[in-house]
Amino acid sequence: MDRKTRIAVIGAGLGGLTVAGFLQRSGFAVNIYEQAPEFSRIGAGIILSANATKVLRRLAVERDLIATGIKPNSYVSRAWDTGETMYEIQFDAASEQRFGGPYLNVHRGDLHNVLERVVAPGTISFDHRLIDVQKAGSGYRLTFGNGMMVDVDLIIGADGINSKVREFILGVEPPRFAGAVAYRAIFPSERLRGFEIADCTKWWGPDRHALPYYMTSRRDEIYVIGVVPAARWESDKPVLPSSRKAFREAFVDFHADFHRVIDAAGDVTLWPIYDRPRNDCWSGGRMVLMGDACHPVRPYMAAGGAMAIEDGAILSRCLETIDDPAEAFRWYEVTRIERVGEVQRISIENSWMRGPTETDWFYCYDPCLAPLTQPA
Ligand SMILES: Cc1cc2nc3c(=O)[nH]c(=O)nc-3n(C[C@H](O)[C@H](O)[C@H](O)COP(=O)(O)OP(=O)(O)OC[C@H]3O[C@@H](n4cnc5c(N)ncnc54)[C@H](O)[C@@H]3O)c2cc1C
Repeated sequence: MDRKTRIAVIGAGLGGLTVAGFLQRSGFAVNIYEQAPEFSRIGAGIILSANATKVLRRLAVERDLIATGIKPNSYVSRAWDTGETMYEIQFDAASEQRFGGPYLNVHRGDLHNVLERVVAPGTISFDHRLIDVQKAGSGYRLTFGNGMMVDVDLIIGADGINSKVREFILGVEPPRFAGAVAYRAIFPSERLRGFEIADCTKWWGPDRHALPYYMTSRRDEIYVIGVVPAARWESDKPVLPSSRKAFREAFVDFHADFHRVIDAAGDVTLWPIYDRPRNDCWSGGRMVLMGDACHPVRPYMAAGGAMAIEDGAILSRCLETIDDPAEAFRWYEVTRIERVGEVQRISIENSWMRGPTETDWFYCYDPCLAPLTQPA
């Protein structure tokens, strides 16, 4: 595509930063518009699997991420009651070689601090919440909540599960409540008072699960999330304060090893879980969606962020090599939809690594090298 094309990326999340980083490296003029006034260290961790970390290596931030996060020794699935190990995957030099990249746990705020470096200074306009898109010649006029207007040729909607860009392509449709809520906490590991936990454990119950893991290589900070069924989310807020007591009561029957983790938590918050039904239309005109804007997944496979990063690599390759944007979007959709659909299916089923699991198709995938699929 013509390198003079003015590209607006809406949203400076994992997907937006990745696609902008690659497009800038191949000579495109890209600006990112982000609604938040700045990046903040919000209280959550994130797991990045090898299919994502190998992309971030191409953007020259893998080392910084390893320095700020932790390469866990293993991932263990344990039964909620007996504590029995149901599945374990080792992460070591051999697995890194096989998968083509490390498995990494990191604090989301630290991840964003590092990811911000993949784009040229001045690329991100903070405090720019997209509120309107109008046709303007062959391109679009964007209007932001702060009153700014910008004319562009192409829009990439990387604006998350409540995407505004999606509304201009597919109409207004609220995300789907997944019938579950998540307790979340972050705390210093010294609060465990010497009790040792594995680097990354998923505790599997009959209708609920929990996942505590370290977020730093010093193993001094722990993130824990516990997901339980819920009929509805009644608040209009995206997060509510909760308590260690409520978290413990929700997991009262769980193994004593997991209770030790909950008992060490300080502040606990409660979050609703949303996704969207699969929808295979990701573009319209010169607008295209990526990441949670088009395919938000339930967080049970820890793969939504990785999918946004993969999208960024594939979408940038399509735009670099195909002249017509609409044709480039078709290649992108056809290349992505089957894989993302499988991740959505597994995430709804919540079966990933519960027991013996074939992981190569997921971890070994390299979106910077994988063949692009020609549309029929
Ligand atoms: C509890 C939980 C745990 C998870 N754990 C993992 C995990 O371990 N591993 C993993 O890979 N994934 C995980 N995910 C999924 C992952 O967080 C998302 O899939 C990922 O953040 C999607 O990236 P994105 O760039 O598409 O969107 P986002 O990260 O949501 O970024 C969207 C950006 O757009 C901005 N924005 C929104 N609207 C506008 C607007 N109108 N104008 C301008 N800017 C706007 C937002 O402020 C935000 O910065 C988890 C999700 C949840 C809910």
